[in-house]
Amino acid sequence: MTDLKTVRGVFEPGSEHWVGDGFPVRNLFPSNGLVAQMDPFLMLDYAGPVEFPPSDQPKGVGEHPHRGFETVTIAYQGAVSHRDSSGSAGTIFPGDVQWMTAASGVVHEEMHERDFTRQGGVFEMVQLWVNLPAAHKMSKPGYQAITSAQIPTLPIGAGATARIIAGELAGIKGAAQTFTPVNVFDIRMAAGSSGEISLPTTHNSAIILLRGSITVNGAQVDEEARLVLLSNEGSAVKLEAAKESLLLVLTGEPLNEPVASYGPFVMNTQAEIMQAIDDYRAGRMGRLAG
Ligand code: MN
Repeated sequence: MTDLKTVRGVFEPGSEHWVGDGFPVRNLFPSNGLVAQMDPFLMLDYAGPVEFPPSDQPKGVGEHPHRGFETVTIAYQGAVSHRDSSGSAGTIFPGDVQWMTAASGVVHEEMHERDFTRQGGVFEMVQLWVNLPAAHKMSKPGYQAITSAQIPTLPIGAGATARIIAGELAGIKGAAQTFTPVNVFDIRMAAGSSGEISLPTTHNSAIILLRGSITVNGAQVDEEARLVLLSNEGSAVKLEAAKESLLLVLTGEPLNEPVASYGPFVMNTQAEIMQAIDDYRAGRMGRLAG
């Protein structure tokens, strides 16, 4: 077997912080200096798993904008309710994914869901930012509310399954529509299981070990919240799980375009960033209804 991808590095979270008062996150990139290597992905925050006590106070992050990219929220435990300047609203429950195309601009809030807030419990979620190509940064915003039942699942070995959130695996297409070729797979492995997947050689590729202990093409990764950077070369990835494990596979064709970013705005030039700040302040990205 000479077609294995090479493990180029294993990274621990490069920063830990709170997003608002609802999301205690560990950032895997762009901290760690992983920018070009992860193109077209911009950021991955792993929130929790953290136990929240019952509360009367809704926690989360209040009104804020995004422009120029997509935010992908993957719920594992707990639930998040969102509403935005287009009047859309919804709740992301465990297994669900919200794929939001901010594009020309969305103003939204992301809060723990009401019943979860009252009852408390373990909260665990990923937020991934996917860049948009220059040609689509100012496209019309929208979002895909993808329920767990809409996500195709296939076995990748005995005791190991992949949920195809986006892209394609073994000829099966994922649930999300994307602007450029990306794969996002939610992989769950039982203790002692193994599996194998084939990934494109033209994509930047990484595996995030959220929980558990695995080997990736023979390289052992036994700490949680680790990013395993893979070579573009080679297509085969062999996974073995020593414990019950939860993985997120990310691959994408790099955009290779200039990136200018400022907080929630990711554009191609500094002038476009200044315009985004102006447009947000002037209310041109809309407002949340009170
Ligand atoms: Mn947001």
